[in-house]
Amino acid sequence: MASTSGASGAAAPKKPKPMSKKHLQHFEKRLLDERKRVLKELGKYDEVFNATDQSSDGDLSSYSFHMADQGTDAMEREKAFLFASKEGRYLWHVNQALQRLYKNPDTFGTCMTCGNQLPFERLEALPHARMCIACKAKEEDAKRR
Ligand SMILES: [Zn+2]
Repeated sequence: MASTSGASGAAAPKKPKPMSKKHLQHFEKRLLDERKRVLKELGKYDEVFNATDQSSDGDLSSYSFHMADQGTDAMEREKAFLFASKEGRYLWHVNQALQRLYKNPDTFGTCMTCGNQLPFERLEALPHARMCIACKAKEEDAKRR
């Protein structure tokens, strides 16, 4: 693997080649695992299971219809709930990454700011990363000023 050495500053966004299916599946699994882990940590996982257990008249369809009815309102509430904790915020980012992966697999793993492909090692460490290290550093820097 030839790493793009040197060349600091604004590199012209080259068209990154889409991630291979194998890699996409790998990161999908990583994200789903993270999601499961955080949900468990938040205690939401058990809740979901208990709730399903208790209303075991086999009527799961009404549940999903109910959720669909709530639409974006429920989403906003979920977001508010999630952002109340550090784990929750992390979960939100993981969910967003999964959405990106499903909706735009072609651009998954590219920096949302400069469009360069994120190094595999970065995604391996942070599968929900949206920016390359250089852009992320710039953003953090801007926040501090
Ligand atoms: Zn970047």
